[in-house]
Amino acid sequence: MQARIEESAAVETPTLHERHGRYPQADSVADFRRNLAAVRQRIANACQRVGRDPAGVRLLPVSKTFDEAHLRLAYAAGCRLLGENKVQEAQRKWEAMADLSDLQWSVIGHLQTNKAKQVARFAAEFQALDSLRVAEALDRRLQIEGRQLDVFVQVNTSGEASKYGLSPEQVGDFLRELPAFSALRVRGLMTLALFSADVARVRPCFVRLRELRERLRQDAPVGVGLDELSMGMSGDFEVAIEEGATVVRVGQAIFGARAMPDAYYWPTADASPGSHD
Ligand SMILES: *Cc1c(COP(=O)(O)O)cnc(C)c1O
Repeated sequence: MQARIEESAAVETPTLHERHGRYPQADSVADFRRNLAAVRQRIANACQRVGRDPAGVRLLPVSKTFDEAHLRLAYAAGCRLLGENKVQEAQRKWEAMADLSDLQWSVIGHLQTNKAKQVARFAAEFQALDSLRVAEALDRRLQIEGRQLDVFVQVNTSGEASKYGLSPEQVGDFLRELPAFSALRVRGLMTLALFSADVARVRPCFVRLRELRERLRQDAPVGVGLDELSMGMSGDFEVAIEEGATVVRVGQAIFGARAMPDAYYWPTADASPGSHD
């Protein structure tokens, strides 16, 4: 069974992240509708390979780096929740698009405590929780705002020192602290897989997150939900779905290729950007 899955995924996602550069820019509502339909079809195909119901996979469109005009096209094509990985950029867009009252924002990138105030104000979801300091800062600001926030705990499943997230061994202890923060609704775990064209090296990251979830679910603290697994991006979401993803975070396959290299968003050993939110 496993061999068959790997084979089919290898055929249908030949180059994973290296394919990014080829996604054409979406510049009209029709472009967005077409791209969304294509991604949904890829989701359905991946689900079918492993006997999953596509209704169990939420598509989170990731709009980082794209301008307001393009976000409005995505909205017109039906997107009601958009993912952004830098707080300032997300806040700017939230303010500019406040007229779209049913548009919600998911912050999917690393957060510094001094930006918790902004996230507590505008975000519907935060997917990159990886420290008690951030949990504490968010909870305090959320109490002030009288809001609650869905959160995912970010786990480093690739073992790369450059990636954010808790190591798998730290997650159990971390989860036990979270019930103290009553404004945080813990929904599950999130990860970024290794950036590699080699499915055989990407898949184990997703397997690791799922197995960690299974292990921790048995004695998760009351109120800490571990139903969700947020994993998979434009280049690897089919593999993630085959391994149990319930949320896939997809940018370039919907919006088009980004001008900035991936190294701009995630520090790596050989290409380190100047700063991170
Ligand atoms: C940008 C980003 C994505 C989406 O990546 P694409 O290659 O555009 O699909 C997913 N998750 C996180 C955390 C991101 O920052």
